[in-house]
Amino acid sequence: MTKLSGSVRWPTIHKDVGALKVMPNLVDYEATCTSFTWESERRSLSGLPGGGINIAYEAVDRHATGPLAAKDALRFVHADGAVDALTYMELAERTDRFASVLRDLRVGRGERVFSLLGRRAELYVAALGTLKNASVFCPLFSAFGPEPVRQRIQLGSARVLVTTRAFYLKKIVSIRDDLPTLEHVLLVDGDDDQPQPEGTLHLPALMRSAPLAAPIARTDGDDMALLHFTSGTTGLPKGAIHVHDAVVAHSATGRFALDLHPDDVYWCTADPGWVTGMSYGVIAPLVHGVTAIVDEDEFDADRWYSILEEQKVTVWYTAPTALRMLMKAGSDRVALHDLSALRFIASVGEPLNPEVVAWGEETLGQPIHDNWWQTETGGIMIANFAAVDVRPGSMGRPMPGVIAAIVLRDEHGDPVMNGDDPALATEPDTVGELALRTGWPSMFRGYLGEEDRYRKCFVGGWYLTGDLAACDEDGYFWFVGRGNDVIKSSGHLIGPFEVESTLMEHPAIAEAGVIGIPDPVAGEVVMAFVELRSGWEPSDDLRRQIIGFARKRLGAAVAPRELEFTDALPRTRSGKILRRLLKARELGLPEGDTSTVEVPR
Ligand code: AMP
Repeated sequence: MTKLSGSVRWPTIHKDVGALKVMPNLVDYEATCTSFTWESERRSLSGLPGGGINIAYEAVDRHATGPLAAKDALRFVHADGAVDALTYMELAERTDRFASVLRDLRVGRGERVFSLLGRRAELYVAALGTLKNASVFCPLFSAFGPEPVRQRIQLGSARVLVTTRAFYLKKIVSIRDDLPTLEHVLLVDGDDDQPQPEGTLHLPALMRSAPLAAPIARTDGDDMALLHFTSGTTGLPKGAIHVHDAVVAHSATGRFALDLHPDDVYWCTADPGWVTGMSYGVIAPLVHGVTAIVDEDEFDADRWYSILEEQKVTVWYTAPTALRMLMKAGSDRVALHDLSALRFIASVGEPLNPEVVAWGEETLGQPIHDNWWQTETGGIMIANFAAVDVRPGSMGRPMPGVIAAIVLRDEHGDPVMNGDDPALATEPDTVGELALRTGWPSMFRGYLGEEDRYRKCFVGGWYLTGDLAACDEDGYFWFVGRGNDVIKSSGHLIGPFEVESTLMEHPAIAEAGVIGIPDPVAGEVVMAFVELRSGWEPSDDLRRQIIGFARKRLGAAVAPRELEFTDALPRTRSGKILRRLLKARELGLPEGDTSTVEVPR
């Protein structure tokens, strides 16, 4: 049984609750866990007036007619630094209009509306307007190239795509013929008098003529609301299905894990093209009636510190890669800014090094609070809470209402069984697979069209997360690694199969194997090993050409950063490329059992 090494633990950061600027929502962890129920959290929400529950109603409409009507819901910082905002009332009106547009186009319940947009107002309006129409929203990451976009639109059977003119021309025109379900492309920009690209509609014009009072459609907790694609080790991306009841978990986690209070100015730096940007960049803050900041531009250390200062951000939810980049930019930059409003910092998406937690304490005057979750869980499951001591390097403790455990694995990586249920580690610090007891409201309800793949994620009453972790004697969870070959680069999950498939479309490439290699800032970067077809010779020029080809198809966020030519990729006897071995060889690690390897070194 592997045990977690305890030798490198950093000193615990103790919390003096009385000295915190704001009394946390969760003060006594154990007592809150004992008294909390998902049902009581559900009751704290409004529910739809005629019955049922709808994420957009909880996030927008119920605030738009009350004391928060004139409060900024979303505040956008444009690339040039200019700022504008949508109040709760304005957001309610725009999302009503968007729902009306969908109704005019006869897009109905359960039908899929996709977006390919940067972080701009139309993305937020389209997401919430789609939910008001009882349709299903699927945001795509705007840095994707045409290939990932094509696959996801096909898998999700999109009927509508909301995008910009530039993205349409660059990424959609070339694949449009492959997208038979896509009936309507709504462009958010361009002038009225500009000719509209063929096969598209001008969203601003449709919004102007749409009737304002579109009654919100009734949805129930189990109705599908959002589709988020995630990557596995093999096969196509998986569309994780999320339902309207997930808002109950967004509400509870916003309250406890992000410690949101009514007067907060909150900034989640994640892009809504990924699940964090939707659950915590849109839903949770709006449900709590706070003002959420949206930065329309990309990362820049000075820009980010200026936003924290000028917007007087109080709660900040970001990612380890960004924090490492800020550390790299130098702590002296912080001294140039007044960050005194900032009272709580949280991070998610990849392992957060203890050095970064300590850097927060030294430089920003408070530790960074790591938390853990994944696309499938729909919301934060394990967290470091504002009032609870932080053990740097640990992901924290389970959310109230969440039961987490470590499942023992056998030598093949399968769960050890104890009757119908998996055997759970009873000894502290035992490394195994992180598992969650089923039943939290934001749990995914399926992988679109892949019932079998979904079922395999559950054993007995437990959901197996695919991550390896350990739990210490006080119930703090420690991340150990991924149980599969999936790559995490700058917080984005990348399926090696997707990259390999695209590389193999290059005329020079016969076979490709893709792995993640450690990177001090991005966590991991994508590295490809390729076998060339006969007649092709390795060269720097060809390497550049292939990387360029991959960037164009996949987008810069997904394409390999490094590429090596090889004569023979290691394979199992059944022909599967052994990424594990490629990685071990690249990093000089033990190669493990190679008895089933077909191609020797
Ligand atoms: P995604 O579904 O893209 O959100 O990725 C989820 C995966 O990211 C998890 O299964 C983990 O492997 C990783 N991850 C998320 N949060 C953390 C964290 N706090 N520490 C380590 N890994 C994390």
